[in-house]
Amino acid sequence: MIRRLDPKTRSNIAAGEVVTRPASVVVELVENALDAGAETVTIDVDGDGTDRIRVADDGRGMSKSDAALAVERHTTSKLTGAADLETVETLGFRGEALPSIAAVSRLELTTNEGGPRGTRVVVERAESAASDERESRIEDGREKTVSPAGRARGTTVEVTDVFADRPARKKALASAKAEFARISTVVTRYALTRPDVRFALRHDDRETLTTPGTGRFADAMLAVYGRDAASHASTFDSVRDVADGGETATLELDGVLCHPDVTRSRRDHVHVSVNGRALAEPRLRRAVADGYGTLLPDGREPVGVVRLRLPPALVDHNVHPAKDEVGFRDADAVTDAVESSVRDALSTADLRRSGELAM
Ligand code: ADP
Ligand code: MG
Repeated sequence: MIRRLDPKTRSNIAAGEVVTRPASVVVELVENALDAGAETVTIDVDGDGTDRIRVADDGRGMSKSDAALAVERHTTSKLTGAADLETVETLGFRGEALPSIAAVSRLELTTNEGGPRGTRVVVERAESAASDERESRIEDGREKTVSPAGRARGTTVEVTDVFADRPARKKALASAKAEFARISTVVTRYALTRPDVRFALRHDDRETLTTPGTGRFADAMLAVYGRDAASHASTFDSVRDVADGGETATLELDGVLCHPDVTRSRRDHVHVSVNGRALAEPRLRRAVADGYGTLLPDGREPVGVVRLRLPPALVDHNVHPAKDEVGFRDADAVTDAVESSVRDALSTADLRRSGELAM
């Protein structure tokens, strides 16, 4: 059930603009789909994303009353109070993504939790809402309309006219190609760190990325990087103890590492996630590269996926409104564990193996 957060909890949450560019819309909608337990997430983007972004999932969907509440400020099903912030295991928790997106676009949400019929919620600029359907006026000169709709179980959020009344924001965007590249980066990061979920990304109706959702890193790697990289890669997993005050906590790592003969000129091809959240975490990426050490040719960067799982209390996802970085209670212990796990994994992998999938 979705509830409104109390003011005390709200004030403990890192405030900030959630929506700065089309890629941030995609991140929020994909994370909502994953939090809803989706097995398939389909993302459609037109142009630079301001024309249209649509994310459809086959997750648990929402009831009519939840759907109507979801687009309002500080409403979430993922957190009940400030205490939960310590232990939150979902990707979302602020209850701000949908209203923030709706504040700068036209947002249409269609959802069904598995019943005979679903719900459509539209949030749009007040003057464009049909007056007889008007249900309630929410902030930012927006109006919300709730009506029945047909849909299989799951949720689709379609966002159009992004930044239509924010010309400065719109002008600050790069070319359509560059904005889509950012979108592709964030979807790829999730596709690789969640090989159990099938992702499809389309740009102007053209399929640009599809992963099969088999749960195997090899299959996701093959879909993203092709046969050469996938056939020179090995999966690994390891468990490390990290100090947590007087006690020790367990850090679990797994992922897939391409052999050091598969390299790129930039570090963007090291994909990391922390407790399920895919992140552009420079410290963790560097730790992965350091684990390769001298195996890499000079100036070259590795290709791989490393997932970390540690007790939620040791991670603070609340440091950064855009959620790019996380806080660790002991960051050095975490990066040391990543580096040594990668080094050990590479030393036991047969690095000369080629041709066949090594996973
Ligand atoms: P948050 O994710 O921080 O809770 P959001 O504004 O992103 O806040 O979403 C508000 C609520 O709407 C979520 O807590 C969830 O209950 C519901 N919701 C959003 N997207 C989906 C989805 N794709 N499937 C099911 N429920 C969703
Ligand atoms: Mg969310």
